[in-house]
Amino acid sequence: MFAIGLKRGLEGIQRFEVEKPSIQQEKQVLVRVIETGIDGTDRHVVGANRFEPPGGEDFFILGHEAVGQVEEVGPAVRNLKVGDIVVPTVRRGCGLCAPCLHNMSDYCETGLFTERGIDRHHGYFTEYFADEEDYIVKVPEGVERLAVLTEPISINEKAIAEIRHIQERLPWACAHHEHRYDKPGWTGCKSALVIGAGSLGLLGLSLLRLDGMHAYVAEVAPEESLRVKLAKDMGARYINSKVESSAEIVEITGNLDIILEAAGATRLALELIPALGKNGVYVLTGIPQKEQEVCLDGSKMLRDVVSENQVVFGSVNSNRRHFEMALEHLPSLLESFGPIFSKFITDRYPITEYKKAFEAPDKESVKAVFEVSGFEKRVEGPGEAA
Ligand SMILES: [Zn+2]
Ligand SMILES: [Zn+2]
Repeated sequence: MFAIGLKRGLEGIQRFEVEKPSIQQEKQVLVRVIETGIDGTDRHVVGANRFEPPGGEDFFILGHEAVGQVEEVGPAVRNLKVGDIVVPTVRRGCGLCAPCLHNMSDYCETGLFTERGIDRHHGYFTEYFADEEDYIVKVPEGVERLAVLTEPISINEKAIAEIRHIQERLPWACAHHEHRYDKPGWTGCKSALVIGAGSLGLLGLSLLRLDGMHAYVAEVAPEESLRVKLAKDMGARYINSKVESSAEIVEITGNLDIILEAAGATRLALELIPALGKNGVYVLTGIPQKEQEVCLDGSKMLRDVVSENQVVFGSVNSNRRHFEMALEHLPSLLESFGPIFSKFITDRYPITEYKKAFEAPDKESVKAVFEVSGFEKRVEGPGEAA
């Protein structure tokens, strides 16, 4: 079968033949890949041209965002059956630390975890993969066509779940019982700023907007660009951070309850900490790539963080629970933002165009997807958004 990734001694993305995997343990399933998402991490790995294959091979299969169909199940598989549409998780625990032993490898303490398609474990830019049932989540009927977005949504699910967990320190939240952080309507009376309107930022925004949170989005794209249009269509107020200074942005947003940083934009991320209001929470999910020095009044910033009980924290990766949360939210996301989500996947590439898919993305590009075997074969569902 074919695979897309990196090959020892060659620069850039390559296509090569590999052996089709088979079920090796009784709890494994064999999955036919339907679609895979391409994101900044994939482009970063290709750009760096560095990889460590799991078994000392001379190739590495990329891809960590996938949707597929179960083709075969091992004798001890309990919750999946042949024909199920599924999404695989990314990280595989170290098997040593407490978080990994509790299926929370996103909090791994040893750093010895592997990640499919990213680090020391082959990914999903290929025709088939086999894995343990524990790492494969079933997609509900009707949202199959959006399921390729499950992984980036799960990153936001984790970040937002953490925010809600932290804010349980204020169980009353506001005067409205229904706006408590443990209630479905928790977004009421709250305002948020999302930094970055790439696919991660927009998916985070969609979750915050699902229950009507008042939201701002800061991005450097021009007003008429697709990503800004998508953010506005989801009800956010757009702030062009190329035009407005950080101080002006703080003026515009006023005191915020939540900031979600999804761009890895170091300077802006730091300069906007003062936009947090009293008892506010700031989560960083973007990973800055280049070294950058930032000059700011650190004492004032820290004084505010302390005197206003603010929490600034980072959140990386996601575990099975967050994938399940993303899939639980997909039907509501489709219902609320269906037409917007259908514009979300801006670039679809047949797998034969893998080189083109890894050229510098167009400015209008939001999310790129590889069509591997495609849905046409065996699956039909009302989730066809396009
Ligand atoms: Zn671990
Ligand atoms: Zn309220």
